[in-house]
Amino acid sequence: MHNNAFLKLGFDARYIRVLLQNGDKLKETFFNLKLSGANVTVPFKEDAYRLADEVRGVAREIKAVNTLYLEDDKLIAYNTDGDGFLMAIESFKALKVLILGAGGTSKAIAKVLKSANYDVVVANRSIDRLKDFSEFKTFTFDDLDSFEFDLVVNTTSAGLSEDILPIDREKLIKIFKNSKYSFDCIYKETPFLKLSKEMGLEAKNGLDMLLYQGVLAFDIFTQKTFNRSDITRYMREALEKFS
Ligand code: NDP
Repeated sequence: MHNNAFLKLGFDARYIRVLLQNGDKLKETFFNLKLSGANVTVPFKEDAYRLADEVRGVAREIKAVNTLYLEDDKLIAYNTDGDGFLMAIESFKALKVLILGAGGTSKAIAKVLKSANYDVVVANRSIDRLKDFSEFKTFTFDDLDSFEFDLVVNTTSAGLSEDILPIDREKLIKIFKNSKYSFDCIYKETPFLKLSKEMGLEAKNGLDMLLYQGVLAFDIFTQKTFNRSDITRYMREALEKFS
């Protein structure tokens, strides 16, 4: 995505992959490789937050970072996952949102939705991670007894490598019965999306979220040099080639 946009827009840069073994070495690795920017993925987003010289925007609240940029020899950190999600659901006319899962992605999405005045409820399989969501109404899957949501978002990894639903099928059917939209952060058709489509919901997988978090990161890497619609066009072109 990034390389296609760099090439087509004539920006002199190259995006490479680096496999980091130890989160504590993130900053050192960034400087040793003489990088100008980076995206950071699981499981190092919290390390990036901890090691950055300055954290900007919603990443300060999420306490996890997916984009780094070198500015005056300082490592500046951002999180574009949540805003990427917001851009991906732009066409949905939803107010009440149920987020399934309480990991890093859920945190990013819940925070930006709340800032954009959505009514957000978070539900998770286990109770432990819900402690990080004190400003939200939360339930464990077993305790969930509220079924009136416009949009249901799966941020769990259920459906990623196995064909399973994140939550009990009967409960999910009860939730979908009152909903209009479903979104799965996973980039493919999952059992969650399949069931929602069968029940008549408008469904979206995580590809657009991947695309838009990339567009926003590109904007940071190139310091807003280019038009967002051009960046989006070239990134989508690359994404469609490989998905
Ligand atoms: P985390 O490891 O931080 O959180 C995982 C969550 O999934 C936890 O809430 C966990 O619940 C839950 N979970 C795991 N397995 C199951 C299961 N079998 N049934 C029910 N719940 C389960 O992961 P992330 O938040 O970083 O990522 C979550 C998903 O989002 C991944 O699939 C990832 O690929 C996707 N993603 C997509 C992006 C995009 O751009 N489209 C960007 C980032 C992530 P518990 O607490 O009970 O263990």
